[in-house]
Amino acid sequence: MDVEIDDLTVEFSGARVVQDISLRAGSGRFVGLVGPNGSGKSTVLRCVYRALRPTAGAVRLDGEDLLAMSTRESARRLAALPQEAVAEFDFTVAEVVAMGRVPHQRAVARDTDEDRRACAAALDGVGAGHLAGRGFLTLSGGEKQRVLIARALAQQPRVMVLDEPTNHLDIAQQLEVLSLVRTSGLTVLAALHDLNLAALHCDLVHVVDGGRIVASGAPHDVLTPALLAEVFGVRAHRVAHPETGAVQLLFDRLPAQ
Ligand code: ADP
Ligand code: MG
Repeated sequence: MDVEIDDLTVEFSGARVVQDISLRAGSGRFVGLVGPNGSGKSTVLRCVYRALRPTAGAVRLDGEDLLAMSTRESARRLAALPQEAVAEFDFTVAEVVAMGRVPHQRAVARDTDEDRRACAAALDGVGAGHLAGRGFLTLSGGEKQRVLIARALAQQPRVMVLDEPTNHLDIAQQLEVLSLVRTSGLTVLAALHDLNLAALHCDLVHVVDGGRIVASGAPHDVLTPALLAEVFGVRAHRVAHPETGAVQLLFDRLPAQ
């Protein structure tokens, strides 16, 4: 499923924090938003998963206006992992994952076999099947993140929106979570703060600075030392990974002017 953001603008009390952002994530693509803190990445993503109504502009799924859909309709197509997903669920893991099925159920319905299958498959898919009976609040940060991804997968969406999904995860979990999402075949729109992870996983990155997109393209074309100095205020070196040849970024402070 194709996601199109068209001339999105968001103002808070008259202050424009996102301005005329347009981008497209083609079906099955992994598209990243990178940029300094406060640049507007979460604000853009919140408009896509409908936590926020934009001041102007549109979001379309396969050409259909998202805001014209019922929330139930859009939730069948699009699942999100918000940046502040630390809701204090006093539920078991199995119950948290089952919440992902709500858009597929009638108003007052018991879980069907299909619901149960989808939840079990989603939990197994993130390697968390053994956690099903545990209380969500008893999990580590990495386990919680995996369960919330399972909940999003149980929703059986076509599009996944992820806001800094690797926060609070150790390095093995970071690599695991992104490759999991990557192999799901879904269209992914993700804000990523680790530029090396972004370079490794994204087909396309958009660099956001001050509420605008300042560069777009394949990570290796976009994440140049000149751009990283300009947007992030750091000195970057690009080196080839000794085994894979993948470009890695090394960072230093910019020399004092
Ligand atoms: P990022 O995700 O890139 O770190 P955000 O999208 O969270 O950035 O924030 C962009 C800007 O919008 C910041 O300056 C932030 O303070 C401001 N902002 C975000 N949400 C609100 C809000 N609800 N009210 C006022 N300002 C907000
Ligand atoms: Mg953010």
